[in-house]
Amino acid sequence: MTIRLYNTLTREKDVFVPLDRSNVRMYVCGPTVYDFAHIGNARPVIVFDLLFRLLRHVYGETQVTYARNVTDVDDKINERAARDFPGVDPVKAIHELTEKTYAQFTADITELRTLPPTVEPRATETIAEMIGLIHRLIKNGFAYAAEGHVLFDVGAMPDYGKLANRSLDEMMAGARVEVAPYKRNAMDFVLWKPSSDQEPGWTSPWGYGRPGWHLECSAMSWKHLGETFDIHGGGIDLVFPHHENEIAQSRCAHGTEVMARYWMHNGFLQVEGEKMSKSLGNFFTIRELLNDWPGEVLRLAMLRTHYRQPIDFTMKALEEARRTLDDWYWFAADVRATEPSDAVIEALSDDLNTPKAIAELHGLRNAAQKADGFDAHGEFVATLKFLGFLGESAESWAEKRRAAAGIDTAKIEALVAARLTARNAKNFAESDRLRDELVALGVTIKDAKDPKTGRFTTTWEVAR
Ligand code: AMP
Ligand code: ZN
Repeated sequence: MTIRLYNTLTREKDVFVPLDRSNVRMYVCGPTVYDFAHIGNARPVIVFDLLFRLLRHVYGETQVTYARNVTDVDDKINERAARDFPGVDPVKAIHELTEKTYAQFTADITELRTLPPTVEPRATETIAEMIGLIHRLIKNGFAYAAEGHVLFDVGAMPDYGKLANRSLDEMMAGARVEVAPYKRNAMDFVLWKPSSDQEPGWTSPWGYGRPGWHLECSAMSWKHLGETFDIHGGGIDLVFPHHENEIAQSRCAHGTEVMARYWMHNGFLQVEGEKMSKSLGNFFTIRELLNDWPGEVLRLAMLRTHYRQPIDFTMKALEEARRTLDDWYWFAADVRATEPSDAVIEALSDDLNTPKAIAELHGLRNAAQKADGFDAHGEFVATLKFLGFLGESAESWAEKRRAAAGIDTAKIEALVAARLTARNAKNFAESDRLRDELVALGVTIKDAKDPKTGRFTTTWEVAR
């Protein structure tokens, strides 16, 4: 099976060849944990979960290392922690805040049926490696210390800007960067900066301070995946400056040709055609959406758009995804999974073509309905499970749907049983009255006669 991935570095769909087939390594920039994650943040989590599943399928479950970091020191975190934990030691305060937020994040994305990554490194547990990287950068002539700061010297790296495909001059013309007096070049970025007593900090050869955001990812990927690894992912907004600067740091510290060989970026998510923002009132956290929609509905709605396209997240799309899943759950009930479909794996191997994979799934479902005996049904179920669906039983799915629609299962069952008793006792007036009551609740009932006993049994369903 050949996997092809669109690579931001080469601007082409490249054939994926891992450095080491027995340890395929992927790093994805994870959340900055100070508040509930929004539905846009869920996109890279779902997209790279799917890639993780595909790589495990192709290379073997234990042969893939997926690192998704937790950014647990950052100026937004520091401010929030100072506000929420006044008087608490700043390092302890950010720890309290970030562990609580990380637990919320994990609970949310578990509902989205994402597998836990192999490692979830914390920036605050990787400070020693960050200091190590700075030492190497200074020694190699790519960084300098000035006024309690350490800066990366972009002028010293000939192909700085290769990922973003921009020259240093172009970047300087377009950027609004802080022109601090201690910078040699306006584009030089911070590796280390001083902290006050009220800010979290660590001792270092350059004074008490904290790392720059870009340095965190270079240190965590190095610690867990090595100097060079296979895939690096994140949202398209991270290409510049975050990923460009990660590359600059890692390559110049280690003296390597590349940091990661394949750079993948997901497109942005909008809501009902507009940029998601708190002021527009269209800002949704994952948690809020999970109050109204099962996580698998959010997952399916997300995967219906190819990951590199912008996605327009609409309530209509959620409704459609829910109807599809109602059907899939119903159709998959009590069917034993066999092997996932080759056609679906092939679609995913073509730069994660999820719209094609979903079209294949619909085809498989229809084939399974038509063919008796042929195992399309088992394949359909296995494919859904492989993609992260059918995480619960058909019965529990249907029960939650009924509860969400305000349908009282116990009441319906009591009415159905009473009607059956009346009917078996030939009390037709009463059984008809009970049938009308059920119809008024939106329930359809099907009677069957047991040929041996002559008695009726009834199955029921709520109209979808
Ligand atoms: P952050 O917590 O802001 O660092 O973002 C975590 C991840 O979510 C990064 O990979 C971002 O690129 C991604 N991200 C943030 N907002 C959106 C959005 N609206 N659509 C898609 N991805 C996003
Ligand atoms: Zn990162």
